[in-house]
Amino acid sequence: MHKILNNIGKLVFGRGSVHQLSSMIDPIREKNNGKFVFIVDHFFKSSSLVGDLKLKPEDVLYFEDCDVHEPTTEQIDRLRDDILLNHGLPSGVVGVGGGSIMDIAKALSLMLTTEGPSSDYQGLNLIKKPGVFHLGIPTISGTGAECSTTAVLTGPVKKLGLKCEWTVFDQIILDPSLTHSVPRNHWFYTGMDTYIHCIESETGIHNNAFSRAYGEESLKLCREVFIGPNSGQNEENDDKLMIASLFGGLSLTYSEVGVCHALSYGLSKILGYRHGYANCIAFNHLHDYYGDAVLEFKQMLAHHSIDLPQNLSSGWTDDQISAMAQVSWNLPHMWIHALGHDWESKISLKDMEGLFRRL
Ligand code: NAD
Ligand code: ZN
Repeated sequence: MHKILNNIGKLVFGRGSVHQLSSMIDPIREKNNGKFVFIVDHFFKSSSLVGDLKLKPEDVLYFEDCDVHEPTTEQIDRLRDDILLNHGLPSGVVGVGGGSIMDIAKALSLMLTTEGPSSDYQGLNLIKKPGVFHLGIPTISGTGAECSTTAVLTGPVKKLGLKCEWTVFDQIILDPSLTHSVPRNHWFYTGMDTYIHCIESETGIHNNAFSRAYGEESLKLCREVFIGPNSGQNEENDDKLMIASLFGGLSLTYSEVGVCHALSYGLSKILGYRHGYANCIAFNHLHDYYGDAVLEFKQMLAHHSIDLPQNLSSGWTDDQISAMAQVSWNLPHMWIHALGHDWESKISLKDMEGLFRRL
């Protein structure tokens, strides 16, 4: 069976395109109570961007803090309950921020029409109803969350997405001018998320012409942004990285991620490491799986003088390492893609612990 891809309905790309938001959401106000809920990263609390969103008086605005932790199921339930209790079922949700806010907006849209704790729905096709209209405006490039069909949440037991046919955004606004303020380290780590999505998507059994086409174009853009003669954070590269992120997301959506993401999820769930950073920590030690791509990654690290910490595992307890290995083990779709359907005969839980001990 081939995957049926749910794609974004409408997309606008370009500097200043955020000003087109009203024209995109106003026609949707006819549905439900006419209000829109805006979930905006707290980084923008006192920025002019909030004025550019042109909220109507009846709209509801939440500034969410993504510094402390990645999105949690508890956070989605709290937002959903507050909105339904105090404002009713809105016409739609707009998310403005990095990958964390993209996931919060997608998950919230679904949970506004689905009862019960969102942790019950972490997995594939567990949600049975469409959510409300949702539109994403990414302000960091790299995660691909603006186009992916999953809303990744950390719950009491697992870090896993709400993944169903209604998760993907109905519309997105890709305005690269919103990313100019991303701090350099974070720009690198989240940008590398895209690079790693493409390498992993192409290195596994689900690779196909569709994924490869998007992955190759995204990798070309990543190379221009991170090692080309004009590399670094500048307007031209902000434009390129936003498209690289989109294409990388499409590449992995129609294929799968692999070993690096399986380890990265363990690092995030047990130690709270941020996604892009956790990927970089893991990818740096996966030469036996991803060969020359790891060497190229090291070149990019050196080019931008990014110092990744070494020997982290010497500070971890055996319990933490086995807990991380268990999180990775519980992501069979990633291992199947990377190693084949007989992955359990190729890697054991102990071997996975060994991968964490490398870091
Ligand atoms: P983020 O959204 O977690 O934000 C990181 C930090 O950057 C925050 O402190 C935020 O306040 C700040 N920030 C946001 N925009 C900024 C801007 N323009 N200028 C300055 N600071 C800004 O970062 P991220 O790396 O984009 O996203 C990581 C999240 O994405 C993780 O929660 C991860 O699980 C998720 N993710 C989801 C998918 C998916 O397919 N759904 C894929 C990969 C990662
Ligand atoms: Zn990723």
